[in-house]
Amino acid sequence: MKIGILSRNPKLYSTSRLVEAARERGHDVRVIDVLRCYMDITSHNPTIHYKGEELNEFDAVIPRIGASVTFYGTAVVRQFEMMGCYSVNESVAITRSRDKLRSMQLLSRKGLGLPITAFAHSPDDVNSLIQEVGGAPLVIKLLQGTQGRGVVLAETKKAAESVIQAFMGLDANILVQEYIKEAGGSDIRCLVVGGKVVAAMERKAAPGEFRSNLHRGGKASLIRITPEERSTAVRAAKTMGLNVCGVDLLRSNHGPVVMEVNSSPGLRGIEEVSGKDIAGMIISFLEKEIESKPSTKTRGRG
Ligand code: ADP
Repeated sequence: MKIGILSRNPKLYSTSRLVEAARERGHDVRVIDVLRCYMDITSHNPTIHYKGEELNEFDAVIPRIGASVTFYGTAVVRQFEMMGCYSVNESVAITRSRDKLRSMQLLSRKGLGLPITAFAHSPDDVNSLIQEVGGAPLVIKLLQGTQGRGVVLAETKKAAESVIQAFMGLDANILVQEYIKEAGGSDIRCLVVGGKVVAAMERKAAPGEFRSNLHRGGKASLIRITPEERSTAVRAAKTMGLNVCGVDLLRSNHGPVVMEVNSSPGLRGIEEVSGKDIAGMIISFLEKEIESKPSTKTRGRG
């Protein structure tokens, strides 16, 4: 099989592991920088050019689209789909998962557990927004943030008011969320491949920090998840339409709640902690998919 890995940097751990896993299984694999692709959108003959050549050799692509290049990256994935190439995660599912508001609306529609959350742009009444999620302490998030940037814990009502007003002054879209104190600064990352949780890890925040992102000094360890957590992760992945994703859960007093579904989950932490060949599992999943349905379902339908 000819596989394209859509990633900006072949040296990244996840990218190089996917290349290695594909080669081990005898596939032809290339890393393509999506920002260097250009597309011909003419009727009936969608094409992609890369460094002066036409890219039409791939049977499948594995998108590893960074949050900062979502717009262009998903357009390139869509173009591959229009050319009949299979994408492990469809462009429309990646776009869906990148929008925190849209994701949470979709997850809530399916009845998945979520922290009590309110969204706002410029509310007249900041107080009622705070009351909506049960008062302080509460978490305020910038909709565009990643890796814990733009996520603030406001311990008092006064602090919450000031932060909300500051964000509003910047014309930002924000989300105000119940603080799940009982999670104790830990969250659970479930790695889902093809509708199954293939590995899970707990991430614990560094002392004095409530955000458990590994980029913020969080520490990862192996964890056994409950059947309820497992089914929540699987349902969240299905709701977003993602074949490969990381589902982040918090253990709350009202059961597992979904914080985020990540369409390009990092492989380093989860492979190191679980000792599993997750990259190999992704390639095996791809092989099965290509055998059973050799083109995408959508062919780039938005
Ligand atoms: P990002 O997408 O920027 O990583 P997250 O929404 O995942 O932002 O939040 C970053 C971290 O902050 C999470 O991994 C979690 O540890 C902590 N966190 C986020 N929301 C809550 C919450 N409502 N209650 C408790 N902890 C939270």
